[in-house]
Amino acid sequence: MTDLADRRLLLVHAHPDDESINNGATMATYAAQGTHVALVTCTLGEEGEVIPPALAHLAADREDGLGPHRAVELDAAMRELGVTDHRFLGGPGRFRDSGMMGVEQNHRAGAFWSADVDEAAALLVEVIRELRPQVLVTYDPDGGYGHPDHIQAHRVATRAAELAADPAFRTDLGAPHEIAKIYWNRVPRSVGERLFTRLREDAGVPWTAAELADVPGVVDDDRITTEIDGRPYAARKAAAMRAHATQIAVREPWFALSNDLAQPLFDIEYYELVRGRSGAAPGARESDLFAGLPEHAATAERPQDDRGTVTT
Ligand SMILES: [Zn+2]
Repeated sequence: MTDLADRRLLLVHAHPDDESINNGATMATYAAQGTHVALVTCTLGEEGEVIPPALAHLAADREDGLGPHRAVELDAAMRELGVTDHRFLGGPGRFRDSGMMGVEQNHRAGAFWSADVDEAAALLVEVIRELRPQVLVTYDPDGGYGHPDHIQAHRVATRAAELAADPAFRTDLGAPHEIAKIYWNRVPRSVGERLFTRLREDAGVPWTAAELADVPGVVDDDRITTEIDGRPYAARKAAAMRAHATQIAVREPWFALSNDLAQPLFDIEYYELVRGRSGAAPGARESDLFAGLPEHAATAERPQDDRGTVTT
């Protein structure tokens, strides 16, 4: 066995900042527990808009220096969350930010949106077979809100999970590994509505309120299978988001992107289990992404006696 922690969580995201916004509290929670938390970011986010005027020169239509700058922001954010394993898919700059849907950057050479899904997935298969995560977190098929890089991240993560488990696929990339549980990032509609009501009533917010429809991954409550109460790490999440200073302005418990529209900063984060069995009682939500899984490999392999009970 390797010296990897018994619990291993892999998150796949499109751009630096997506991980902190969506999963910052979850990542900090698991990192603090000693879980191996690994982040794979698919692009450097080169096409992002820049909030601080002093850094506006980095934008893609000026010096085009935003990618390396955002890699440094990501480093700082991961330090805030206590996450030490973060990588760019295929290495930094292998895939470029594709910009919003419909722009010409979608089809430029190297754009993540124009990448071959199986080729990009093979790069992630190598990571999956190395780390052997029990849990994968990524976006839904719409990427949460239709951004091409988010849709592509979903496709690549989903395909990689499938190929990593296939014993016939690329034996040079390591032994096959099946990820036990896959989750999509979600926001329950009732929680979103409640927080947006509070946001609109807060006279101290320096921005106009966004609409709930602007938030990625909002679904009816009954689709939520899992909630991670990251409130003890809310300040860590806020600090990680602040580290992405070109992209996010934070005024707890709210934040705004470059559109200057305020959104809630979620310190309880929500998920939909789309593969694997829920570890919660019927009708209840999981409070742990690893719920229902054996505590570690040794437990899973412990022999059973002839009555089917686990011998200890
Ligand atoms: Zn993004």
